[in-house]
Amino acid sequence: MPHVMTFSHSYLENKDGILYIDGVSTTELAKTFDTPLYVLSENRIRENFRRLRSALLEHYEKIRIYYSAKANTSLAVLKILENEGSYLDAVSPGEVFLAFKAGFQPERILFTGTSVRDDELKFLIDSNVTINIDSLSQLKRLLKFHVPEKLSVRVNPEVGAGHHEHVITAGKNSKFGIWEADVLEAYRTAQNAGVKQFGIHMHIGSGILTIEPFLLAAKKLLKIAHEIHEKLGINFEFIDFGGGLGVPYKPNEKPLNIKEFAEKMLSLFKDRIKEYNLGEPFFCIEPGRFIVCDAGILLTRVNTLKVTPFKKFIGVDAGFNTLIRPAMYGSYHPIVVANRLNAPEEEVYDVAGPLCESGDILARNRLLPKISEGDLLAILNAGAYGFSMSSQYNSRPRCAEVLVKDGKCFLIRERESFEDLVRGQKIPQWLK
Ligand code: PLP
Repeated sequence: MPHVMTFSHSYLENKDGILYIDGVSTTELAKTFDTPLYVLSENRIRENFRRLRSALLEHYEKIRIYYSAKANTSLAVLKILENEGSYLDAVSPGEVFLAFKAGFQPERILFTGTSVRDDELKFLIDSNVTINIDSLSQLKRLLKFHVPEKLSVRVNPEVGAGHHEHVITAGKNSKFGIWEADVLEAYRTAQNAGVKQFGIHMHIGSGILTIEPFLLAAKKLLKIAHEIHEKLGINFEFIDFGGGLGVPYKPNEKPLNIKEFAEKMLSLFKDRIKEYNLGEPFFCIEPGRFIVCDAGILLTRVNTLKVTPFKKFIGVDAGFNTLIRPAMYGSYHPIVVANRLNAPEEEVYDVAGPLCESGDILARNRLLPKISEGDLLAILNAGAYGFSMSSQYNSRPRCAEVLVKDGKCFLIRERESFEDLVRGQKIPQWLK
């Protein structure tokens, strides 16, 4: 029986051994735009957003999905989500700037920063976006400049979760959010200053594939919301349960059941807002990875084969300057040979990038077809925290990004040039 690779998502196709994404041949894309190259499927981004929205709407009308821009801040991606009616979670003034460029109105933006500077607070005030406070210090500094109409507080619900220690954003080691003991003071201070409308927020981590941690943390957040309501009479306009909805990367990982997530989270939400007399706040979530991760692939060309007494290395043109997740979190990404999908897997390789760093390895001990120099690899599930975490390390200009849809493609971000390496740099006169 010949080996034929198949994909579980229809936007990825095997046509005579060539990988197609949203109807476009990856070998043609690599020829036209060179490698490394990020390719994003517009249809898949829309599908992920709609799947989540309809799952939530089945249980409650007042929902908001804040796309977490940090996962992929490309303007075209933001524009797609703006079109879909998404709200936006921004974590820096730069993300607010990009959201405006993509057409988001300030009322649709929630800013959740940490270690926020005074000039950044002033920028946010001028931008008229809703601010989600991360510390009492931030709140007091904000109120000195301006009393906003609406304000939210990020609570540390003491339950954290995630695919790696670095992405757990709640619990006792976390720098994020305000602990229960200080939450009342935060709302009281804001209320006394004249803030009229309130939200409450948590975000416990990233890459979570089970529902339990969300439920546990949500119970705690709702209990705190109840306490604030009882003591200060605050009726929350929204309750935001953060992002973190995981996507499977490894072959044995099961996807988060999104229908079950919606059903369980909203049944808890509806029960508690009724029991606690919290009225009818908006139910909000802030997914980043879930929306864009599996909509993106990274194409990289094999330039070197190296066999040592211990290892077989495949040398490619993407390294951790292009995709940092394997080096930073030890993350696994599926890899396929895009120009020979039907070749049987028969050799074990390490896939190595071009950086002068031993840690520049995209995959260890990966079973792949016998590779030749010139082969094109596709690293799957690269749409989230891929380009947005890329750098010019080793003075390598950042790569290009292409959006594909129904057989069409469009260059949404140009490949950087050497000129981009010197942009903004100056040599002082005394060195000339
Ligand atoms: N919300 C906040 C405040 C975050 O910090 C993050 C990610 O770190 C997210 C949402 C999105 O997380 P994910 O991409 O895992 O959904």
